[in-house]
Amino acid sequence: WVAASLTKQHHPSSRFSGDSAAPWTPHFDVVVIGGGHAGTEAAAAAARCGSRTLLLTHRVDTIGQMSCNPSFGGIGKGHLMREVDALDGLCSRICDQSGVHYKVLNRRKGPAVWGLRAQIDRKLYKQNMQKEILNTPLLTVQEGAVEDLILAEPEPEHTGKYRVSGVVLVNGSTVYAESVVLTTGTFLRGMIVIGLEMHPAGRLGDQPSIGLAQTLEKLGFVVGRLKTGTPPRIAKESINFSILNKQTPDNPSIPFSFINETVWIKPEDQLPCYLTHTNPQVDEIVLENLHLNCHIKETTKGPRYCPSIESKVLRFPNRLHQVWLEPEGMDSDLIYPQGLSVTLPAELQEKMITCIRGLEKAKMIQPGYGVQYDYLDPRQITPSLETHLVQRLFFAGQINGTTGYEEAAAQGVIAGINASLRVRHKPPFVISRTEGYIGVLIDDLTTLGTNEPYRMFTSRAEFRLSLRPDNADSRLTFRGYKEAGCVSQQRYERATWMKSSLEEGISVLKSIEFPSSKWKNLIPEASISIGKSLPLRALDVLKYEEVDIELLSKAVPEPLRKYTKCRELAERLKIEATYESVLFHQQQEIKEVQRDEALQLPKDLDYLTLRDVSLSHEVREKLHFSRPQTIGAASRIPGVTPAAIINLLRFVKTTQ
Ligand code: FAD
Repeated sequence: WVAASLTKQHHPSSRFSGDSAAPWTPHFDVVVIGGGHAGTEAAAAAARCGSRTLLLTHRVDTIGQMSCNPSFGGIGKGHLMREVDALDGLCSRICDQSGVHYKVLNRRKGPAVWGLRAQIDRKLYKQNMQKEILNTPLLTVQEGAVEDLILAEPEPEHTGKYRVSGVVLVNGSTVYAESVVLTTGTFLRGMIVIGLEMHPAGRLGDQPSIGLAQTLEKLGFVVGRLKTGTPPRIAKESINFSILNKQTPDNPSIPFSFINETVWIKPEDQLPCYLTHTNPQVDEIVLENLHLNCHIKETTKGPRYCPSIESKVLRFPNRLHQVWLEPEGMDSDLIYPQGLSVTLPAELQEKMITCIRGLEKAKMIQPGYGVQYDYLDPRQITPSLETHLVQRLFFAGQINGTTGYEEAAAQGVIAGINASLRVRHKPPFVISRTEGYIGVLIDDLTTLGTNEPYRMFTSRAEFRLSLRPDNADSRLTFRGYKEAGCVSQQRYERATWMKSSLEEGISVLKSIEFPSSKWKNLIPEASISIGKSLPLRALDVLKYEEVDIELLSKAVPEPLRKYTKCRELAERLKIEATYESVLFHQQQEIKEVQRDEALQLPKDLDYLTLRDVSLSHEVREKLHFSRPQTIGAASRIPGVTPAAIINLLRFVKTTQ
């Protein structure tokens, strides 16, 4: 254990286990630094996998804090939450206990791209998360600021210049660990900005992490700088909601977690959201005061898909931008104006707000602000989120250049699992792009890196039709149970029951076959064409938009009635029917790409002039520019579609 051959000189910042005269015993298998969305998932996952885990964070009372928006989920993000849940992660279950307004986005499109989303009661989320974390077996939680890493001799069988063996806190105390997960969010050299004022902070009211940032840089990690921002908060009673568009929640509410039949609160008791818009006066205030706004002048990149009002006004002048007025909680007096992230001086923020319809008399309780922070180029980590440079050191969350609670949680669960597996000398747990949005997220980060805050979208996933929110359990729960040990017996049994019920249901639906004219008589509501009165399976009838299991079971009560008893099963059978034929083709294509991922592309291929293969001009340009070496590498180039990959794959195979 003693790093005899290393000296402090080689590693100017970090401490060495060799510094200590006496041999030592590690106290924890896994130490997680940071109690944000990545850190809580990482710590809980490592503990679920059976590792003695320590969560070290600045303050226990900020565990589960939502630094910005009071909401979870959305398009793409909701998919990540279902996958985190499939691995028995926390955030989905906690959201089912803490939401105040549940709504599925993108309902007009197919269920593959539905976005589960909820407004969350901040206080309740924090309470429920803290309760969960403080009661997780094998998990110890301790307050403290980590300043430095302890390094030891690297394991010869692994790549990596160093190996982490513990951490040093600001007060000088040390904790030893077999694996360390770093999830420090926006805290590395964090700087808060309002108007022309800047001061060091990880987020409002929290100290930044400076020593740790220096340690990482000195070790040789490539560090970049990003920024983000948050809107002001407004007093609820000062808003004139009566003149604004009201959005009501879904009825029934769809829970985030596979193990919940319903959420904690009835739809009729949930809170509404309201919609208003900016106007030319808002643009004027922003444009006239750019000189008082140093955040916007910075060249550091901010979130493209969650931009500040200043960026929107500059990029899209003379447009009205949506502002959603969202409740911060059941008994909160605050409203969060989503879409109004701003870093103008506080008095100008208030002036800007009161120009907006419904907010004429609004009282600003807390100004919006920006934060600039260090992130680490994610190409320095492997798909298991372990760093290339330091063995057994894992990074997860905003530190890797992502933005959003869900992206952080998704990385957290994977880092926690792998930190634990590493201790037990087990192979890493990696999710591929064909298995989950988590795989897409991590693959994008580790292969392409990012120079702006990365967030998840359904358009980033090539195999959207099979990576659906409804089937995340069948994609990941069994692997989580068998390979990682992070899934409870109860969840495993539920997923097993659902899988066999679906298989049985589909086979029953395939076995019931009548001529289309008979179906038309049985279900007059359905727009079944009876042209030649061909035989139709019940599964085909279920594909019609207006048909669901309930309706089908009225036509053929036996044996279909039993599938109406469970809402989730009935919905999933309908979704399986909808995607049956397209999925069959997609599955074949997934297998084809997986089989040939390593297939070398000829070095002299001229993509721009290549004949006999159908590729769009855009795809040709991208391939020409990137010159990927393999089919797998080509498939990861943003904008190169799955269809193009299949065409390219088939072309290369025929010419070899
Ligand atoms: P965090 O949730 O930030 O948690 C980091 C944790 O690490 C904290 O608990 C902290 O105390 C702890 N910590 C840090 N350093 C140390 C140390 N040395 N020792 C011990 N503990 C430490 N996301 C969006 O999607 N859209 C937005 O518009 C948006 N705006 C934002 C605006 C602001 C001002 C901030 C601060 C964040 C914003 N976010 C936004 C980002 C969102 O909050 C994060 O993506 C998410 O919280 C990241 O989770 P995380 O676990 O990586 O980090």
